[in-house]
Amino acid sequence: MHSIPKSPGVYVLVFYLPRKTAITFDRKGAQHKFLPGWYLYVGSACGPGGLDRRLARHKRQHADGKRMHWNVDYFREHALLCEIWYSENADSNVEHQWAKALIELPTASVPVAKFGANDCREKCPSHFFHAPDRPSTAVFRKALATRICSTEVFVEFIKEPRRTKKVASGLQRECFDGRRFLEVRRRVAAESKSPLCEWFSLAMHCPARQLAEQIATQTKTTFPKLKRAIQFANAVETLIENCGHSVMPALFDPVRPQSRGAILFLSRTSDVRQRHRINGVIEGRFRSIAPQPDDMVFDTVKFGEVLSRLARARGSLEKLQHRVDVTCDRRLLAESKCLSRLSRLAATRLKNCVNDRVDVSSAVPGHLGKEAVISILKSSNVQGRTIGMARLALRLIVKNLWDFEEMTHRGLLPTDNELQAVECEVERIQRAARNIEQKAEIQNDLLRKESHVTAA
Ligand SMILES: [Zn+2]
Repeated sequence: MHSIPKSPGVYVLVFYLPRKTAITFDRKGAQHKFLPGWYLYVGSACGPGGLDRRLARHKRQHADGKRMHWNVDYFREHALLCEIWYSENADSNVEHQWAKALIELPTASVPVAKFGANDCREKCPSHFFHAPDRPSTAVFRKALATRICSTEVFVEFIKEPRRTKKVASGLQRECFDGRRFLEVRRRVAAESKSPLCEWFSLAMHCPARQLAEQIATQTKTTFPKLKRAIQFANAVETLIENCGHSVMPALFDPVRPQSRGAILFLSRTSDVRQRHRINGVIEGRFRSIAPQPDDMVFDTVKFGEVLSRLARARGSLEKLQHRVDVTCDRRLLAESKCLSRLSRLAATRLKNCVNDRVDVSSAVPGHLGKEAVISILKSSNVQGRTIGMARLALRLIVKNLWDFEEMTHRGLLPTDNELQAVECEVERIQRAARNIEQKAEIQNDLLRKESHVTAA
């Protein structure tokens, strides 16, 4: 288990340099002052012994009897080799594609032109890069995917830098702790070719649990802490997968970092909403990536969400119907009636949509469109908890209609049971809404008559 293959391949050495260091990096005495931070060196192993032999060589130092040959050998004497990323691949062109993917990583830069790339014929600016923050394999994989370079990248962990505050913020550290598990799991799964589903659970006695406990011991942490870290790292990787490499600077901005809760929350929403929030933060439109109720973007991951939104809307309307006949506020009555009517129309429309009675592209009629409904939801002429219930119900129901077309494109369709459940919820919504409309009218009439009597 965990052995480096003897076949040819490409690799990245990930170094950590704790402080600014002047390093002579060739036999002729060329020198550069390297900034502290992370360094990535890309190379390929095509000779006999393949990756295994080459990487073993990189792990050794001059004191171990290694003959100094490449630029990176000199650098390695001063920096800590933390990780090796590798991929089995006999195509020598992949090395340059990897170099180009590395330069695309956020905040990556070239410290010394042509370092490690003196014999590169592919015009890479360098095969050696600097990044102030710890580089993420998820981001790297994403960058490779866009270059149509679909090789599986594995990680071997070598040494960890001593934990100082400078290395990363607490959350970034947590992310990389969890990532350790995800990376090892990826390798074990590939080597044992065991079905991935086994690994999803961290239940007692399952292989994933044993692996997590092993890693917790190695990294001197506790199992519950590591479990939290794994959950967090998973969330970050989901966001990278859906939104690309701009995610990391948005999440871990040192001046305005995002909270753990917001990151977890966002990772459970749809990719559309994720991009909406992340881009909003990057462009300075929002402060937080946390999903907001007034994000009017597509946000359905599975059909079951339609049902839970309908159930919440129905609950809200049922509560509201017990309030309308005790209120004496005529504006509140009028507004409740209007919102309930729209809720009812939206629910009916939804029922027709899921039953295929309406063409998908015309699922949302003008009076239930985003613009019309949002202006009604945002009107502030009536305030308070009662009207809040009516607004919530409308928002939850109409959301399903707005998302319907995209859901159909994505194949998020109801099962027979879900179809029945929709019918049932819609009927209850219609009943409650009609009840509110009638009660509001009766109560309004009563109040009007009373005011006439008082006036007379
Ligand atoms: Zn190159």
